[in-house]
Amino acid sequence: MLSGYKFTAAERFMRYVQIDTQSDPLSNTHPTTEKQKDLSRLLEKELKNMGIEDAHMDEYGYVYATIPSNTKKNIPVICFCAHVDTAPDSSGTGVKPILHENYRGQDIILPDDPSQVIRYNEYPYLKTQLGNDIITASGLTLLGADDKAGIAEIMDLANYLVTHPEIEHGAIKILFTPDEEVGKGTARVDLNKLGAEFAYTLDGGDAGSLEDETFSADGVQVIIHGVSAHPGYAKGKMVNAMKIAGEILAALPKDRLSPESTEGKKGFIHPVRMEGMAEKCTLDFIIRDFDTDGLKKKEDYLRTQIEELIRTYPKASFVFNVTEQYRNMKEVLDQHPKVIEYAKEAIERAGLKLKMESIRGGTDGSRFSFMGLPCPNLFAGEQAIHSKHEFISVQDMNKAVETMVHLVKIWAEKG
Ligand SMILES: [Zn+2]
Repeated sequence: MLSGYKFTAAERFMRYVQIDTQSDPLSNTHPTTEKQKDLSRLLEKELKNMGIEDAHMDEYGYVYATIPSNTKKNIPVICFCAHVDTAPDSSGTGVKPILHENYRGQDIILPDDPSQVIRYNEYPYLKTQLGNDIITASGLTLLGADDKAGIAEIMDLANYLVTHPEIEHGAIKILFTPDEEVGKGTARVDLNKLGAEFAYTLDGGDAGSLEDETFSADGVQVIIHGVSAHPGYAKGKMVNAMKIAGEILAALPKDRLSPESTEGKKGFIHPVRMEGMAEKCTLDFIIRDFDTDGLKKKEDYLRTQIEELIRTYPKASFVFNVTEQYRNMKEVLDQHPKVIEYAKEAIERAGLKLKMESIRGGTDGSRFSFMGLPCPNLFAGEQAIHSKHEFISVQDMNKAVETMVHLVKIWAEKG
């Protein structure tokens, strides 16, 4: 515990979640929804009120701020980052946060829709929360802990550092981004302006967890060219591209290499879309693997399968286009081992058991990492995200703040 400090993360969190900041996957504007700026504007104001003078929101809804260095020591500039938007999966309008003090292992019935029940037996993490204070939504909306927990925790870190000048630290940058949930969180970011060497997103789950890996990802488009003919006179002429596409899909393994048959560190080949006519049919796949070489192997496997099939249709042909989507951030983080080392140490200094995890997806952190800002993901305490069952405990939020304070101190100690 930070001795005698009155944490502000939970109080901030209860206010921030009531501001609707849902992003929109169908919008082409930046930010995708103007309402995200309602929270960004408030954060700018609250940072300024703390005395953080350069805090500002830009035209795209990003908030940048600096807690200046208070030492002559040369310490790398680190950044803490979180996203203001909430997922489009469930409503974010009229969120009513409820504080359930001193949790006793009961099922939590959400009052505005009593059919929404957070059951003790369905969420094993609740076993670790006995005696803690849990915040939920009221049953009609998501809570928005993803990622307003991260926002509130970083705001509390800022409050702690400005009220505890005796803690020696280098320049600390704060970055709040819009549109993470719709994959555009890095679209309009200005990393030169940010001026940080290393960053941490606060957007993870269980207390003590640290994520340093994401999938590596490619898209593959397969275009099959068949031969069209008048169906009444097609004998010996027509080659139906749609039927070939159907055979390709049917030949994919059912017990492996698919999202529905894999977990952990196993990747997959996943058809996401098809469109076509007899003459031409297009299949879109996404390919995922933690290992970039493994990605290539999966693509070779798919290409070979298709080649062999097409060979049985001499008049048909196909095109196989691979597009890079994103890469496992571990490739970057391995070149900067202290980013992870210090985070592990901070988690342990906060008295938590370290849980290393990997993300079966991409994150803004993986994009930042390949844009030159190595950026793993620290826990924020979020549970059951993107759903009406979303919850978080006050104690986990405070642990996240404490972990960041230790992290700031470790960077100052070790450089
Ligand atoms: Zn998130």
